[in-house]
Amino acid sequence: MQFQGKLALVTGASRGIGRAIAVDLARQGADVFCTSTKAGGCAETLAAIAALPPGSGRAAALVADVADAADVQRLGDLVTQGVDGIGGRPPDFLVNNAGITRDGLFLRMSEADFDAVLGTNLRGAFLVCKAFARAMAKARNGRIVNVGSVVGLTGNAGQANYAASKAGLVGLSKSLAQELAGRGITVNVVAPGFIQTDMTAALPAEVQAAMQQQIPLGRLGTPEDVAGMVTFLCSDAAAYVTGQTLVVDGGMTR
Ligand code: NAD
Repeated sequence: MQFQGKLALVTGASRGIGRAIAVDLARQGADVFCTSTKAGGCAETLAAIAALPPGSGRAAALVADVADAADVQRLGDLVTQGVDGIGGRPPDFLVNNAGITRDGLFLRMSEADFDAVLGTNLRGAFLVCKAFARAMAKARNGRIVNVGSVVGLTGNAGQANYAASKAGLVGLSKSLAQELAGRGITVNVVAPGFIQTDMTAALPAEVQAAMQQQIPLGRLGTPEDVAGMVTFLCSDAAAYVTGQTLVVDGGMTR
């Protein structure tokens, strides 16, 4: 229970990696705001947190589209005011996990698909950081973890928009790390490889099998594999780590 008394916010915590991150932070004692785009979207995440052993953190759900500046501002106000007895102050841990894909080969990629992916994955993280960075800086404390992707480091055919958004997240995070270091805030990226979630379940079975063959550890990742790295980055053990991209991909990226 290393995070008792800490407050976390995880965007896109309704399922997949975001849910695993929220549950793991709560298991360590942190109270967690879980965001989703729809009312009731985080019901299963909240139920999983409620089922944790006594002493674990509490959770509250908030609805916000991270690509919508007004929504994110409202999110910031709610967290700092407090909801359901949680919050009332800026988060100690801010995890920008919300993300989407709109895959397609570049020659056929529409502006709308480019803008949608950049809007959620990169601009969304910018907006959420903006909503909390000033208050976190004033508190002189905090960890920001942005969920990128190995694709942001390597590129990937059919994912020019997604790769650009995740590469952008690295630049955003490295810059923020430099600006906020003096205020006691670390900013890092966790770059997952191929993780079993709804996002990757949408890929054809033969693509999934081919990807598994490229993974030295011989299996797809789990959301919990990624959550473990986020928890580490929020822990005291990672106090001297900032501006980094930590790859969680079973050895796939060489
Ligand atoms: P997922 O599709 O299962 O979950 C994505 C979450 O983001 C959902 O909760 C969804 O509601 C939320 N979301 C989407 N758009 C949003 C918006 N505009 N505002 C707020 N929330 C929004 O995906 P996942 O696989 O769990 O992915 C989570 C993160 O991990 C994403 O950033 C993704 O790019 C990244 N990632 C995933 C993999 C993988 O293999 N699954 C690999 C590398 C990186």
